[in-house]
Amino acid sequence: MHGGLAGMMHGLASQDGVASDPLNRLDERGMDRKSERSGERGATRVRSRVTIRKDDVQVPAPFAYERATSVDHALELLERLGPEARLLAGGHSLLPMMKLRVAAPEHLIDLDPLAVQLGYIREQAGEVRIGAMTRHREILASDLLARRLTMFTDAERLIADPLVRNRGTIGGALCQADPAEDLSSVIAALQGRAVIRSRSGEREVAMREFHVGPYETVVGEAEMLIEVRVPLREGAGSAYEKVKRRAGDWAVAAVGAALWLSGGTIEGAGIGTTAVGGGVTSERAEAALVGERPAEEVFDRAAEIAAEDCDPVADQRGSVDYKRHLTAELTRRALRRAAARALGAEA
Ligand SMILES: Cc1cc2nc3c(=O)[nH]c(=O)nc-3n(C[C@H](O)[C@H](O)[C@H](O)COP(=O)(O)OP(=O)(O)OC[C@H]3O[C@@H](n4cnc5c(N)ncnc54)[C@H](O)[C@@H]3O)c2cc1C
Repeated sequence: MHGGLAGMMHGLASQDGVASDPLNRLDERGMDRKSERSGERGATRVRSRVTIRKDDVQVPAPFAYERATSVDHALELLERLGPEARLLAGGHSLLPMMKLRVAAPEHLIDLDPLAVQLGYIREQAGEVRIGAMTRHREILASDLLARRLTMFTDAERLIADPLVRNRGTIGGALCQADPAEDLSSVIAALQGRAVIRSRSGEREVAMREFHVGPYETVVGEAEMLIEVRVPLREGAGSAYEKVKRRAGDWAVAAVGAALWLSGGTIEGAGIGTTAVGGGVTSERAEAALVGERPAEEVFDRAAEIAAEDCDPVADQRGSVDYKRHLTAELTRRALRRAAARALGAEA
């Protein structure tokens, strides 16, 4: 488990009650630097002498750099280099944290060369499998996901901006475990699983159990996330609804809903919540839907339960009451759209 990152991020959060988005703090701390780059066998080491100073530029602490040539190579490096090594995927979360000195890994293991091997979205054995290095833009562009698991497409339309989506990966997003990250609740609502590999083998973990806390997952120090698997079921419809302050921003609150209908009755339901604390799902709201026929009063009840189950913090994005109100309203809207899609009434 990457407890170091979680510890550091908790520290950052507790300074001002902001539970996510270290990038918001980029202009609040600064540092002066002189750096030099020197080659070492098999690695590039960047050395910096740094004095932290407010309102100045920022550079990461010194680190050694390795490029993984295969999954096995990445795992071998993780095992050999130990807890001070960190995987680098798209770099959109890790590099800003390193510049802020919130993270200071001694070794970076670049996964970019694995973008082909681990960059895929395919249907196999009754599920959709998504490789850990699949970029946000590839998820957004996927016909398979748009047709069968539309919640992914809804969410990706609202994640960050094209610059971030071009580089950021599903593996990095899930392993960053930011409480405002969108794909965790999408996959949890859809009852997906994470495939985690180490040198001694592979294990699968339900996305509902993947997060240990903010910025903390069940992925161990010598393990990496390889793939995400989401089951495909008949009679399914899903949707994701998000409110954010401006284009490209993180969620104030967001909710994903999945419904599986059989003979007009809700046979199964998934509710995932983003940026509002509590668990990543509301199992009580899901239970309230099962066995019912899709209807406004049924959605209202589930929405009220989801709002009760969340546990938001007040921050620059809104008050606790506002976030609870959004959770209820977004649950209602996501359920309406999920039901319409399951019934073939909306694409
Ligand atoms: C301006 C901005 C706005 C954003 N807005 C949103 C938003 O609205 N919604 C949202 O969900 N996200 C948002 N993001 C985050 C975005 O989705 C990032 O792409 C994501 O958080 C990190 O993905 P990455 O590939 O860049 O990971 P990296 O930054 O490379 O890595 C993040 C962490 O995951 C670990 N890691 C990476 N890959 C693996 C792996 N395979 N196995 C184990 N550990 C791994 C790394 O070691 C690191 O600790 C935003 C980012 C930015 C910069």
